[in-house]
Amino acid sequence: VTTIAARPDAIRRHNLAVMLSQLHRDGALTRAQLTQRLGVSRSTIGALVADLIQLGLVEEAVPSGGAGVGRPSHVVAPRDDGPFVLAVDVDVTHLTIAAVGIGGTVRRREVLPNVPPTPTPRAIAERTVEALDRMRLEGMPGSALAGVGVSVPGTVDRHSGRVGVAPNLGWRDEAFGSLLADLLPTGVPIAVGNDADLAVLAEHRRGSARDCEDVVFLMGRIGVGAGILVGGQPLRGRDGHAGEIGHNVVDVSGPPCHCGKNGCTETYIGDGALLERAGRHLPPTEEAVAALFADARTGDDAALRAVRAVAEPLGRAIANLVNTLNPERVILGGSLSGLLDLARPEIEGSLEHYALEAQSRTTQLRQPELGGDSALLGAAEVAFADLLDDPLAAAALPA
Ligand SMILES: [Zn+2]
Repeated sequence: VTTIAARPDAIRRHNLAVMLSQLHRDGALTRAQLTQRLGVSRSTIGALVADLIQLGLVEEAVPSGGAGVGRPSHVVAPRDDGPFVLAVDVDVTHLTIAAVGIGGTVRRREVLPNVPPTPTPRAIAERTVEALDRMRLEGMPGSALAGVGVSVPGTVDRHSGRVGVAPNLGWRDEAFGSLLADLLPTGVPIAVGNDADLAVLAEHRRGSARDCEDVVFLMGRIGVGAGILVGGQPLRGRDGHAGEIGHNVVDVSGPPCHCGKNGCTETYIGDGALLERAGRHLPPTEEAVAALFADARTGDDAALRAVRAVAEPLGRAIANLVNTLNPERVILGGSLSGLLDLARPEIEGSLEHYALEAQSRTTQLRQPELGGDSALLGAAEVAFADLLDDPLAAAALPA
């Protein structure tokens, strides 16, 4: 008897979740489109839209229609001032914090340089919460916080959410999520993930892998890591550490790596290697790499030579991925995106040389459509997961 009584509510919850997820992924949709997508009656759609409006999640507009054929369908869209998530991208040299609304719109953003030496987890957590307070003061009062997502350049345990190793941050077995939870209102869902894993998720949902189920996102910053989708599903491994290809050793007598070994892939294709090859003995910041790329574009010899020198081991690293995973597409993010722009023929040549012939021919190399925001927006996606699963939970969000 109870199951019969519970059913209509379960169906309503399910339909609300499907509707909000569609609006989150695709933006504004007409009632007619929603009716078709959900496969329910027009009156049910009307009731579901009313629920989401009541919850403060969406708004509806009646288009001032053109002359003629029938009534124009109402347009349902995520609210600009509805609940938001805080997306945090922890990079070695800087911290990016954004308030992201339903639909993936970035409403506020702060980029804060990290003060050397490497930032502690506590410092990052405190700065994150300070940024949230500033954003609230500066114009998002009343909007409810639906979750926090954090991208880190390191391994994240899929069961505990602890950061296992983030070599370039100097973090080891850090309960970063709990640190953050202690500083935030109770009940805010917090998700921590690896930067490349989150980047591939975001590119799959709303970027250059939208139509692609077998894809690798190769993230190159100071370190290098891969986020992998196989058949549309994330490849995580038992503990969630899959994809740490930056620490595949390619030459035991190679340069020392932050992880303690020698000759890791990232010592050949990471930002540090690129700058060294150009004779620029600088800290590997985003600005230093951008300056090198700018010089390469204007024909600076040393900069161009460095870019081409890194293209060869990069193509080889991609070839290893291609031989192992046979992806349809490899997206090169971070600094690797700039390398692809400047040295595509060299990278493709190396890929062709080292991968099996058939595979190198069918693998496409792409830049991320979300630019430098892939990991940040992936963090927003995982932060939204709870609300998208159960939009009725919006009623209980801490304001
Ligand atoms: Zn290493």
